[in-house]
Amino acid sequence: MTFVTRFAPSPTGLLHLGHAYSAMSAFDQAREAGGRFLLRIEDIDQTRSRPEFESAIEQDLAWLGLEWETPARRQSEHFADYDVALSRLRGLGVVYRCFLTRREIAEASTQAPHGEGEGPDGVIYRGPVNQMSRDEEEARLTQGQPFAWRLSMNYSQDLLGEEFSQMDFEEEGSGPNGEHGTVRARPNLAGDVIIARKDCPASYHLAVTHDDALQGVTHITRGEDLFASTHVHVLLQRLLGLPTPVYRHHRLLTDESGKRYAKRDRALTLASLRASGASPADIRNRIGLSGP
Ligand code: GLU
Repeated sequence: MTFVTRFAPSPTGLLHLGHAYSAMSAFDQAREAGGRFLLRIEDIDQTRSRPEFESAIEQDLAWLGLEWETPARRQSEHFADYDVALSRLRGLGVVYRCFLTRREIAEASTQAPHGEGEGPDGVIYRGPVNQMSRDEEEARLTQGQPFAWRLSMNYSQDLLGEEFSQMDFEEEGSGPNGEHGTVRARPNLAGDVIIARKDCPASYHLAVTHDDALQGVTHITRGEDLFASTHVHVLLQRLLGLPTPVYRHHRLLTDESGKRYAKRDRALTLASLRASGASPADIRNRIGLSGP
């Protein structure tokens, strides 16, 4: 089996040291395995994605010495693919239309007996207490009310039966609580996640799962902040009949004060480090990766 991995940034800001760690370690792993390294631009959020960030990302990666197959897949050019995947989920009866506003979702969550806390997409929503009647749904659609498609954990469980609680994935890195080796997927912890957004015909979960399978990705290296999402991705892979890659989650890099790097920290973007004279080797040193 050829080793295929990828770096999949969203062009909503400049890359920082945390991104450099994900990208360079995935690249090194592909090289060591004699495999392939892909770049995928995850720009389904058309309000936040910008072409200038996309070109900055490519410049930074090239400066770091990474090479990838071209052209890079740009998700905004493939909404039709995600729509087909959504139709399959609709056909399976595991998604439903959700007309709730953000505020209503937050209210539903605070009314939960123990408060729901945060999932991979922020506030966790466990689904409606009562299913919406067909008449009401039709009426709302006729009025043109916006809605999102959500993946129902209950309907998925009904469809998959025992398999729902017996899905595993291989973790070769480590989750936030030291999870390693064969890990049991627990997608229901995330609640009914959004599969297609009100303002966008796909969601991160659907597009990433679809594309990793389409591109034959065998290994996924990414930060442990996406570990909770992985549990949802394993469920989507099962529902859509897609293979589950091997995961290598890594710890999030933090600055000297222990705060994790974020796109808003301008000082630690690769562009600003480069401008202040850092070399790619300095970046490798700083993030604790050995030379190529
Ligand atoms: N596009 C996602 C991000 O920039 C990462 C996707 C992934 O590696 O699975 O956070």
